[in-house]
Amino acid sequence: MPRNDKPIPRKTQKLVFQQAKSRCSFCDESNVSLLELHHIVSRADGGSNDPHNLLLVCKNCHGLVEAGDISLEEVMKKKQSLGAIIHQMPKRDEGKGNNVNISGGVSSSIVANNLTINNGAKSTRINYPKGAIGVNLDKKNYIQHLVKRYYDFRNADSGYGAKRPFHYGVIHKNIESKFKAKTYFIPEERFEELATYLKGRINATIQGKRNKSNGVKNYSTFEEYLDELNS
Ligand SMILES: [Zn+2]
Repeated sequence: MPRNDKPIPRKTQKLVFQQAKSRCSFCDESNVSLLELHHIVSRADGGSNDPHNLLLVCKNCHGLVEAGDISLEEVMKKKQSLGAIIHQMPKRDEGKGNNVNISGGVSSSIVANNLTINNGAKSTRINYPKGAIGVNLDKKNYIQHLVKRYYDFRNADSGYGAKRPFHYGVIHKNIESKFKAKTYFIPEERFEELATYLKGRINATIQGKRNKSNGVKNYSTFEEYLDELNS
């Protein structure tokens, strides 16, 4: 299956935002600058830009999905619980009679524009094993912070001519193959090692090197990060 590198049409984005009421499907985040569209079947696997293959999530939850901390099963359940996608046909099609087309086959409780959302549980709790980084909230958040920094830098790199937009999943897969565990399931003893690995990856990006030559720091240390949180 060839990779899908097509941009998501605005109209499709709008449908997916409407379906999710412009909130993260997992944590309810509504800050639009944090919201992203997740491909349920990944682009790398040829997943399409069909609205049924897209789920509105925030950056944080997107990271959890890509890391496998939110399972594919949970993603699909969540997508189903959002109800159908309503395609509003453009005005010029009104002559054809029915101008609302419901698709998706996910809920029977939908009558035309009267959309019922059966939203189930709002939050997804993940139980990490004892001693895993995911159990220690400060450490987990710091790793998440580094992952996000790396992701942002890689995206900045595409502005400097790097080929394709970078996806969260890639760094989590790199981590998994190096540490033999999913990111937040890695034992806490390896926290420093994981942080060092991520810092190395950040420093090696084009943006990271530019910052270094300009004397701009690429990330906070764990101690600085905790101070910033508590200040
Ligand atoms: Zn979220």
